[in-house]
Amino acid sequence: MSAETLLSRLDKVKQTKPGNWVARCPAHEDKHPSLAVGERDDGRTLVHCFAGCAVHEVVQAVGLSLSDLFPEKRSNETHAIKGERRPFPAADVLRCIAFEALVVLTAGAALLAGQPFSDADRARLVVAVGRLQAALDAGGLTHG
Ligand SMILES: [Zn+2]
Repeated sequence: MSAETLLSRLDKVKQTKPGNWVARCPAHEDKHPSLAVGERDDGRTLVHCFAGCAVHEVVQAVGLSLSDLFPEKRSNETHAIKGERRPFPAADVLRCIAFEALVVLTAGAALLAGQPFSDADRARLVVAVGRLQAALDAGGLTHG
């Protein structure tokens, strides 16, 4: 399957460069595009939700299955993805996590201004930090 089949079932699809798109994730309540989609020369379609949804959740939400992301000849599906150091362009990673960065920015500004932190603020910050960390890992942007 080409990435087009998947893209045609997603909302707010935006091409960021040839073979790369961002879109709203169908597997969670996604107000901002958190889903990166990449089409590779070997025919594979890469999918990553930067809010943390699993790939199978994303494809199932639009009525596809994991095998639809791979070309006819399938070999060692998950390993193929794991072995890839930087599956998505850094700019797309940042675009997908911009909202989380904003949450952290707002929290940081409030903290510096000496404003009190509610439990809800704190909980949302924990979620944002976790997502940013996961996104950086997925984008190959962390050291080690
Ligand atoms: Zn998601």
